[in-house]
Amino acid sequence: MDLTQEINRRRTFAIISHPDAGKTTLTEKLLLFGGAIHVAGAVKSNKIKKTATSDFMEIERQRGISVATSVMGFEYSGAKINILDTPGHQDFAEDTYRTLTAVDSVIIVVDCAKGVEAQTKKLMDVCRMRKTPVIVFINKMDRNGRDPFDLLDEIEKELQIKVRPLSWPISMGSTFKGVYNMFEKKLNLFFSDDKQRVGDDSVEISDVFTSPDLDSYISPFTATFLEEINLIESVYHNFDREKYLNGELAPVFFGSALNNFGVQELLNCFVKIAPSPRKATTEERLIDPYEPKLTGFIFKIHANMDPNHRDRIAFLKICSGTFERNKPYVHVRLGKNIKFASPNAFMADKKSIVDFAFPGDIVGLHDTGNFKIGDTLTEGEKLHFKGIPSFSPELFRYIENADPQKYKQLSKGIDQLMDEGVAQLFTSKYNGRKIIGTVGALQFDVIQYRLEHEYNAKCRYEPFNLYKACWIESNNKAQLEDFRKRKYNQLAEDKHKREVFLADSSYSLHMAQEKFPDIKFHFTSEF
Ligand code: GDP
Repeated sequence: MDLTQEINRRRTFAIISHPDAGKTTLTEKLLLFGGAIHVAGAVKSNKIKKTATSDFMEIERQRGISVATSVMGFEYSGAKINILDTPGHQDFAEDTYRTLTAVDSVIIVVDCAKGVEAQTKKLMDVCRMRKTPVIVFINKMDRNGRDPFDLLDEIEKELQIKVRPLSWPISMGSTFKGVYNMFEKKLNLFFSDDKQRVGDDSVEISDVFTSPDLDSYISPFTATFLEEINLIESVYHNFDREKYLNGELAPVFFGSALNNFGVQELLNCFVKIAPSPRKATTEERLIDPYEPKLTGFIFKIHANMDPNHRDRIAFLKICSGTFERNKPYVHVRLGKNIKFASPNAFMADKKSIVDFAFPGDIVGLHDTGNFKIGDTLTEGEKLHFKGIPSFSPELFRYIENADPQKYKQLSKGIDQLMDEGVAQLFTSKYNGRKIIGTVGALQFDVIQYRLEHEYNAKCRYEPFNLYKACWIESNNKAQLEDFRKRKYNQLAEDKHKREVFLADSSYSLHMAQEKFPDIKFHFTSEF
């Protein structure tokens, strides 16, 4: 096995979208093309419906599915493709943020009628921070949507990235004729009557302006189409792959995932332009994927669904070298050797034991409590990967023990759930009370339920009105001391003993920032 070749052919990415834009449908169609599945409907939606906020069966069902579909690998056109699944429900947004630390690029799905939505913007903020290359797929062209030029403008403005259409729709909704693929210079015709066809309805047209046949395919939209193509050529620069790879330019495709339309074009282009595994940043140095020695980090931990088996699956993203089954690796934080007898690889909806894995691949490691999110495996070098931040939570509650007999179980449970990244724990320096911070309200229910069912412990919550928890630091020791003295009842520690300021309102945060100009207030834990 040639390491270089294996790395070059890997494409590890995530599909992200606002709920309902078509992420699940697109994922499924990509797997269909990859031959990984053979019937539509094989990919289970991992969505928790809004109405199911306190439906624990639904939460458990979701957890089951999300193990199975965490990583979907398949072969396509010589490439090894790994799709990393992200939860659709916004209460699990932090899970999605962390998954984005393990991908080399993303595809963003936008609903042509709704345009850029709230969750799309938030996810794009994370991509921008990491300079992740982005391709945009504008979906549901079989429905009446917004004007394509307006959509492009909105994407540029709202997602703060330059765009370049690589395909262009001819009409939409009930009169949708198809898309012209500028990347391959092909016209793909849309037949709305055959939804599940994985066929080729494309016509090669090398020059749309001189083609004698064009009109017979797309009449009565020929004139408008030519005008639009003219406009695109004059307004947008040629597609520049370097800019795409730097996260400055997003190529845009149009299609209809449900009708399997425009998906293969997207995939063909993706395989050609999307990056193979990129360099990874650690506190110590840059890691080149082609280095012979193994490095990797844990970006996700999944607890076993079966309460009788407390083991978990830790997801390792391989950043360099070759991962081998049964070879001892160094767990950097614990400073000990660990080997893995049955590491899992993920192909489509199955997992299997893997002997070798390469940069870009995700390996599932059985874990009995050794791993936390962000942990590093190497062949001995002490490395700490960057870019796995915690985000300032938005909802807070005090957590209290509701069963005095089960104190130990409770604190173990809380510890492990925090390691999994379900929520963040802060301890007040003022009164020692424990505060849980989450991104979504659902997590509080999940924690309570799982503490009870997996750890045999009971907790109760008390309301705690807080605006934000932010990490603080300063080089100005005197000012920091002064701040600590004045705000002693609003200080806490996170689980790594970093100092956190608990601001009760945006006003008080603002005042603190003004009065203490030498103190930095951070909204992610990595700075
Ligand atoms: P997700 O929440 O982003 O994963 O969205 P889904 O893939 O579950 O899709 C949401 C809804 O939109 C489902 O009812 C899909 O059948 C529908 N949908 C997805 N793609 C298309 C499309 O291209 N056209 C139309 N008309 N509906 C679509």
